[in-house]
Parts: sequence; structure tokens; C-alpha cells
Amino acid sequence: MPDLDTAFRPALADLEQKRLLRRRRAVSPGADAVLQVDGVPRLAFCSNDYLGLAQHPALADAARAAIAGYGVGSGASPLVSGHSPAHEALERELAAFVGLPRALYFYAGYAANSGCVPALVERGDAIFSDALNHACLIDGARLSRADVKVYAHNDMAALDALLRESSARRKLVTCDAVFSMDGDPAPIPELLALCERHDAWLYVDDAHGFGVLGEGGRGSLSHWRVPASAASRLIYMATLGKAAGVAGAFLAGGNAVIEWLLQRARTYMFATAAPAMIAEALRASLRVIEAEGWRRERLAELRERLRAGLQGLPWHAPHSDTAIQPLILGDNATALAVMAALEERGIWVPAIRPPTVPAGTARLRITLSADHRAKDVDRLCAALREIATQ
Ligand SMILES: *Cc1c(COP(=O)(O)O)cnc(C)c1O
Repeated sequence: MPDLDTAFRPALADLEQKRLLRRRRAVSPGADAVLQVDGVPRLAFCSNDYLGLAQHPALADAARAAIAGYGVGSGASPLVSGHSPAHEALERELAAFVGLPRALYFYAGYAANSGCVPALVERGDAIFSDALNHACLIDGARLSRADVKVYAHNDMAALDALLRESSARRKLVTCDAVFSMDGDPAPIPELLALCERHDAWLYVDDAHGFGVLGEGGRGSLSHWRVPASAASRLIYMATLGKAAGVAGAFLAGGNAVIEWLLQRARTYMFATAAPAMIAEALRASLRVIEAEGWRRERLAELRERLRAGLQGLPWHAPHSDTAIQPLILGDNATALAVMAALEERGIWVPAIRPPTVPAGTARLRITLSADHRAKDVDRLCAALREIATQ
């Protein structure tokens, strides 16, 4: 056996050669949508902080006040002593916000999905998973030991056929409500109708819809006007580190299923609770999401401006009604070259490559935020036009 430090050198060299080696930047926030990237200011279109709440003073104030009362650490799992009155209040408010009976807060979205899917289904059951689902839904499916059937992205006929031929004891359909690399939505009413027809359950991950879509930012269930009665076969998950601007995630659904997750999701039981300051910052975030509707309006205006500005480029910009606006460039080298050319012009848009997206669809994942101004979007579009002609 090679020693540990030489064992991985060839694979790393291979990643480098395929232009797949990732590099982190040390990033700190500046004013508006400008980030200090390795100490250099860049106009950034890369954050999932879609409403611009990560730097919001009301959230920071709430966190500071919580530190005064609770300190900075939670000390234990929520099932031991890590669950505070702040977490308790947050869960009540989250459930009311999305219109479901009960919610359970997790320290990260990755932990929520990879812990809850295996708590719901097991060997002998079946999971029906959209081909573009997020990695943590995929890992949750693997951990469950259920039989996993992948259906082509948003292909309801394919899902219908798979559900029809399944004789599994329990059937769970899992999907992103808004797909993270394309920004397109899953047709939740159609998914629910299929689940009804084939007696299956639906698990939706609204990481990119919560705060952005629906009445008052209540997310994809509100956007699609899903009735509260759907909770009999629906479990809702949303993350709180994106539009909500803080960290963590929650599951929401009927009282008994949430109680079951609390009892059985291993990533809930065996992990230290998020600090109470996070819970208090999130309570403040919910109030801002609802009160500052202008943030969603700004986002919609910027989106229309960007879509108009991307017209006529030699690259495909698939339609998306969300803050995620991909520009498909194809091969990895082109994606990296365009990213670098933008960077030379002081603009930062991340190139997303396989395995995050399918091979041959390397892209710029442009994300908009209520922190952007019209002139920021114009600057990005002008730079892309210039790069396209070179
Ligand atoms: C970001 C994301 C997650 C993971 O959430 P974290 O809180 O970042 O761990 C889960 N699902 C989707 C669709 C995401 O985009």
C-alpha cells in the first residue's frame, strides 16, 4: 500500500489535467454585491444569498442579542440539552410560515436530507429520484438502502411508468422544488397528482424557492398553491443558508411524521445543535423576508434585465424564473476561460463543471441578488458580449 500522501497524487494530477481541480478563494463581503476575493474586489454573481440578507443589520442584531443570553455554542444534541427556547420558537414560526403543522430545524440542509430520507424509507421500499436532484438527496437515498429509481429530469410520463410498475411497500418521490444548477421548477401539482394516483409520498427540497417564490416568500408550496391537505402525502424541506441568509434547514409536515424524524433522523440525533444565535438570526430573517417584499421585486426586475442582456450571445441561456440564471458553455475549458476573462474584468461568476452538472454542460451559474443594481447587470452583460467576440 502506498503511504497516504502519495496515494492520491495521481488522481489529483488527473483532475488537474482534466481542468476539474477546484480551488477555494478567501472571500470577504464588501459593499453591495462586491466581494473581496483573495483581497481583490470583484462584482460577484455567485452567492445564493438571493435576497441580500446575509449582511442585514436586523439579523446581525438578533444574533448579537442571542449571544448575550445564550453564549455562542449549544453544547449538545437537541435531544440532550442543545434545544433552546430560540429553536422552539423558530420551529413554530417556520411551520406557520409555510402553512404546515410542524417543523424541525437542522444545522445544515445536507444533514437534513441525508438524515431524513433514510428515516422515511428502508430496504424493501422504493425511492423515485429526479436525475438532477441535489447530492444530499442522492446520498440520503443511498443511505436508506431502499431501491432507487432515477427518472429523467422533470419527466412526468417516465415517473408515472416507474411508479406504476413498482410493487414496493412504500414509495417516496424525491425532488428539488427548484433545480439548483438550472433554476427551473419541479411541477409540484403534477407530482402530487401522480403520488395520489400511485399511492406514493412526495419529498420536496425547496432550497432555492424558499424566500424567493410564493406569497411573501413562503416558497414553492405557496407558489403552486398546494393546499394544506396535501400534508397527508407531502414532506417539505427548505434550507436557510440561501435566501434566508443564515444557515441550516428545516423539514415541515404533519405532526407525527415530524415527531418520527426527531426520533429517528441520525443527523438530528447525533449532531450538536446549531447555536441559539443562529435560531434567533433566522427568526429575524423570517420577519424581514415577509416585510421587505421589495427584495423579491428587485430580483424580478434584475432577472428580466439580465435575460434581455444575454440575448444574442453565442451561448444558451435556458429559461429560468428564479435567481439562478445558467449560461451553458459546453466544455470545461470554455467555461473556465470565460470565467477567467470575466475575472480579468473584475467580475466573478463561477464556472460549474461535472460532476456537479452533466458532462458537456459546463456553465456559468449566474445568480442574482437583491443587492445587485441595474448597472451591475449591465456591466456583466457588456463583459460577456465583449468576451464572446474574442
Ligand atoms: C444547498 C442545497 C442543499 C444543502 O443545504 P446546506 O444547508 O447548504 O447544507 C440541499 N439541497 C439543495 C437543493 C441545495 O441547493
